[in-house]
Amino acid sequence: MKIALVTGGSRGLGKNMCLHLAAKGTDIILTYHSNEEQAREVVAEIERNGGRGVALQLDVSDHKSFEPFRDRVAGALSEMWGRSDFDFLVNNAGTGVYAPIAETTEEQFDRMVNIHYKSVFFLTQMLLPLIKDGGRIVNISSGLARFSLPGYAAYASAKGAVEVFTRYLAVELGARGITVNVVAPGAIETDFGGGVVRDNPELNKAIAAQTPLGRVGLPDDIGGAVAALLSDDCRWINGQRIEVSGGIHL
Ligand code: NDP
Repeated sequence: MKIALVTGGSRGLGKNMCLHLAAKGTDIILTYHSNEEQAREVVAEIERNGGRGVALQLDVSDHKSFEPFRDRVAGALSEMWGRSDFDFLVNNAGTGVYAPIAETTEEQFDRMVNIHYKSVFFLTQMLLPLIKDGGRIVNISSGLARFSLPGYAAYASAKGAVEVFTRYLAVELGARGITVNVVAPGAIETDFGGGVVRDNPELNKAIAAQTPLGRVGLPDDIGGAVAALLSDDCRWINGQRIEVSGGIHL
C-alpha cells in the first residue's frame, strides 16, 4: 500500500492528482488552505471508490506551522495506517499573481516566493524524515518558467527557483533512493488566476491556438500524468522537468 501527501488537494489540479492516484490504489493525505468542505468531499469521493484518505489544514505561506503540521501528518499516518512514513510527496498548493514588473509590490513578490519556493524548500525539509526511502517527490512548476508572458514575472521566477531546487533535491536524496521531478503544467482550466483560462472564452481560444493539440489543458491531463510519474514504471526518471502542456509555445 502506497500513501501520497498532496498539498492543495481540495480543488483543481491537486484534487485531480488525488483522484488519479487513488484510482491506482494509492491512499491519500491531502491538504487544503481554507476550503475544508471541498477537501472533505475529495476524501469522501476517494472513500466511495474504495480508497482511504484524510484532509489536513495547511497554509504553505506560514512556515512556522510546518513543524506542528509534520506532527499531524505523523499522527494521521499512525492512526489510519499504522505507519510512520509515506511514499510520495507532491508539492502542488499555490495561487498566482498577475502584475507587470513595474507595478509588482514587495508584498506580492514575497507572497509568490513564499508560496512557490520557500514553502516547497522548508516543507520538504520538514517532511524528509517521514518520506520512505525509495519514495518520490514531485514539485509542480509552470510552463511560464520556460516561456515568458507579460505579467507573470514574480510567479514564474519563483517557479523557476523550484525547478532548480528539484535538481538539487534529486542529487541529495539519491542516497536514500528517493527520486525528485518537477511537472510543469501549461494553462489548465481550474480556479487558478480567478478561473480565467476556463471562464474567459477569448483567452481560452487564444491559448488553444498556441497549442499544437488545439485546446487548453484540463485537470485530467495533469492528474493522470502525475499519477503515471509516481508509478513504478517511471522509477528511473529523476531530476527532470516534465512539461505537461500539449506542447504550447514549442
Ligand atoms: P486552484 O486555485 O484550483 O487550487 C489551489 C489549491 O492550492 C487549493 O487546494 C488551495 O486550497 C491550495 N492553496 C492555495 N493557497 C494556499 C496556501 N497559501 N496554503 C496552502 N494551500 C493553498 O489552482 P490549481 O489547481 O490550478 O494550481 C495548482 C498548482 O498548479 C499551483 O502550484 C499552480 O501554480 C500550478 N499551475 C497551475 C496552472 C493552471 O493553469 N491551472 C498552470 C501551471 C501551474 P483551498 O481550496 O483551501 O483554497
